[in-house]
Amino acid sequence: MKKYDNIVVGSGISGMTLALLLGMNGRSVLVLEKNPRIGGSLARFYREGIPFDTGFHFTGGFCKNGILHDMLTVLGIHDRIEPIYLSHEKNNRLIFEAEQTAYDMPTGYQETIAKYKEYFPGEERAIDRYFEMVKDVCSRTVSMDLRKISLSPNVIDEDFISLDDVLKGLTGNHTLRALLAAYSMCYGVKPAEISFANHSRVCFSLYQSVARVKDGGDAFIKAFRERFAELDVDILCGSHITECVDIRSNRVGGFALNTGEQISCHDCIFTIHPKGILKALPQEHLSKAFVERVNAFEPSAGFFSVFGVVEPDDPADDFNPSILSLFPTTDVNRMLDPGTTGAKALVIMKNREVANGKSYRVMNASELSFPKHVAAWKDSKVGNRPPGYMEYKQERVDSIRRRIIRSYPEYSDTFRVVEAASVLTFRDYLHSPEGSAYGVKQKIGQFNLFGKLPLRNVYAAGQSAMLPGVVGAMMSSFIVGRSIVGKEAYRRFIEQRLCN
Ligand SMILES: Cc1cc2nc3c(=O)[nH]c(=O)nc-3n(C[C@H](O)[C@H](O)[C@H](O)COP(=O)(O)OP(=O)(O)OC[C@H]3O[C@@H](n4cnc5c(N)ncnc54)[C@H](O)[C@@H]3O)c2cc1C
Repeated sequence: MKKYDNIVVGSGISGMTLALLLGMNGRSVLVLEKNPRIGGSLARFYREGIPFDTGFHFTGGFCKNGILHDMLTVLGIHDRIEPIYLSHEKNNRLIFEAEQTAYDMPTGYQETIAKYKEYFPGEERAIDRYFEMVKDVCSRTVSMDLRKISLSPNVIDEDFISLDDVLKGLTGNHTLRALLAAYSMCYGVKPAEISFANHSRVCFSLYQSVARVKDGGDAFIKAFRERFAELDVDILCGSHITECVDIRSNRVGGFALNTGEQISCHDCIFTIHPKGILKALPQEHLSKAFVERVNAFEPSAGFFSVFGVVEPDDPADDFNPSILSLFPTTDVNRMLDPGTTGAKALVIMKNREVANGKSYRVMNASELSFPKHVAAWKDSKVGNRPPGYMEYKQERVDSIRRRIIRSYPEYSDTFRVVEAASVLTFRDYLHSPEGSAYGVKQKIGQFNLFGKLPLRNVYAAGQSAMLPGVVGAMMSSFIVGRSIVGKEAYRRFIEQRLCN
């Protein structure tokens, strides 16, 4: 049996972060990844040589002392990831289609507050209060400071009040409420279901700045790979655990893999969907309550995505990175309800990409979608879908294309759809049981799978553990990493890395 200090299951941003953190702390690490390549949602895909983003388009947190900046600094990859800020407010715009109103979202916390006050005269108090509350939640959340993070629950009052309730208490203006809830698209949960605290934790860094990354998620993967090569970190793609063996005193002695190998380790950390974790663990060692808890998790919202290109390239068109969000209504709860019929929220992102010396004007549009939309074909697999599914897909592609062209009529003759992905596509490529964009729905008062599991040397981290998005997923790995390397070793490591 091969031996490692740690096994990390899943190689998305959570798994890569954990593997690097552990490797940097002198551990031998094996990363198990079901896909033929690492990266999970971060890995781009190529069609006709053009790079497209799968599940990472933009993020906050890059500014100095921002949480992402700090995490990348600690991991020693900060200088390998190049943010491209959406610095002009016109490049991040939200349109409420029913009202035909448009709001530009500027960069900078104070700038955002000032701009929103301009949009909503008479609502200054509500706007000030909202942004004070968001900032206050983040300053009281220990997990947002790498020096203070810990697995012990750090719950605050705002964890028990919904975003919806807070917004209703602040203002009767529906449009302002919708604007303040707009980044719910970045975690895929209704304002009535998410806590104000978790909403704030995701949004704070986005209000500070929104940035794409040069070469997208592939830049992260390349940086992690280079660091793994310097350390004792092995990667085994096309692999997953089939059985936990030699279980004594609630410790797993070894893991049997689909490749036929058996591996032993001191600790194993799952960074995959909780339902995937449940499948890998021996049911006889799990309580009924544990199994029911995991089975009760609901999926966050997902997306139907269209990937296209504006051809031929025109160097005179600056084609700056931009985000255009189209909300059919100001009722964000309705918008994020899987049962809602009619027009769906759509986010259109454009940016220029250079690959193999060629420049491309790339457009990606992601429309809200839910497992319910594809329930009729849930038993089908990629490459073998029935005709009904293909018709569904074509209809959605055509409708999204029309919406793109209505927003960018200048590209009506030059925009071409290259690829499309439904919730089922994301499910099958990312091995995520329901194909949701952000793992499990982060509902108010929910007890997530995070940290130590019922088997003593088995842990859970990942986007479903704490908060979704690249930042939330990485944070979960820092927290679990601390618990594995030990408080004191972690403290010394962070101090040393942040002081360098
Ligand atoms: C369409 C879309 C758009 C998004 N846009 C953004 C965005 O712009 N910004 C942002 O911050 N976030 C965005 N997200 C969310 C973001 O991608 C995720 O929150 C984050 O990348 C999750 O990382 P993870 O490592 O937890 O999981 P994943 O990236 O899902 O990685 C999990 C890995 O585990 C592997 N795996 C699964 N089961 C097993 C198993 N049994 N054994 C071994 N390996 C297994 C999978 O193949 C995968 O590689 C988006 C997501 C989607 C789907």
